[in-house]
Amino acid sequence: MSKREPIRMCIACRQRASQHTLIRLKHKETDIVSYDGSGRSFYLCNICAQDKKKKKGLAKRFKINEADVDKLLKEIDG
Ligand SMILES: [Zn+2]
Repeated sequence: MSKREPIRMCIACRQRASQHTLIRLKHKETDIVSYDGSGRSFYLCNICAQDKKKKKGLAKRFKINEADVDKLLKEIDG
């Protein structure tokens, strides 16, 4: 009965989860931003979004500031 949801993978821990439980982001030049409907996106799970080590890894991967990753995730979280 329940509709099957699309499954996506968190890029930090590689766990798969329903798309709606993941945070969708996008890599834009030298920054990562909230996905706005265009370009290439990636997903991050809520656990990694609060994990200091994972955030650090993400910052390294995209060559951006860890503080920027933090700020972005806080903004998305509301
Ligand atoms: Zn994750």
